[in-house]
Amino acid sequence: MERTFIAIKPDGVQRGLVSEIVSRFERKGYKLVAIKLVVPSKQFAEKHYHDLKERPFFSGLCDFLSSGPVLAMVIKSPHVIKYGRKLIGATDPSKSEPGTIRGDLAVVVVRNIIHGSDGPETAKDEIALWFQPKELVSYTSNEEKWIYGVN
Ligand code: UDP
Ligand code: MG
Repeated sequence: MERTFIAIKPDGVQRGLVSEIVSRFERKGYKLVAIKLVVPSKQFAEKHYHDLKERPFFSGLCDFLSSGPVLAMVIKSPHVIKYGRKLIGATDPSKSEPGTIRGDLAVVVVRNIIHGSDGPETAKDEIALWFQPKELVSYTSNEEKWIYGVN
C-alpha cells in the first residue's frame, strides 16, 4: 500500500472543481484517508515547495498557493503515487493528455489546479507537513474486496 498527498490548489477550489476532482480519485478505487480545507500561509507554501526555491516562479507560486483555500487530501492504494500523477497529467496543461485532470480542466501552467506528490519520499514529507498523524483515518472500505480481489 502507498499513500500520496494530493492538493486542489486555490484555482481549483475557486472554480468549483472540488467534487469533480475528488470523484475522479474515488471512482478509480483509491481510498481517501484524510481531507481538509486550509488556507496555507506563504511561509507554509514555501516549505511545501522548498525544492523549487531557486526557480524564478517560486515566489509567485507560493503567493498563489497561499491566496485562498486549498483542499488537502491523502489517498491510499497500491501504485497510487505514480498512477495518481498520471491521472493528474503533465505539469503544463497545454501538454497534458485529454482525459487527465489538468488536460480536461486547466489551460496554463501557473493555474494547473492540482498538486500530487512526485515520489515515495516527497509523499511521506508532504503528508507529514500537511497532516498530523491522528488526522489520517484508518478504516476498512466495503468496496476493497471488489477493487483488489483475492485471486
Ligand atoms: N509552475 C509554474 N511555472 C512553471 C513551472 C511550474 O508556475 O514554469 C508551478 C505549477 O503550479 C506547478 C508547480 O509550480 O504545478 C510545481 O512545479 P513542479 O515542476 O513540481 O510540477 P508538478 O509536480 O506540480 O507537476
Ligand atoms: Mg512537483
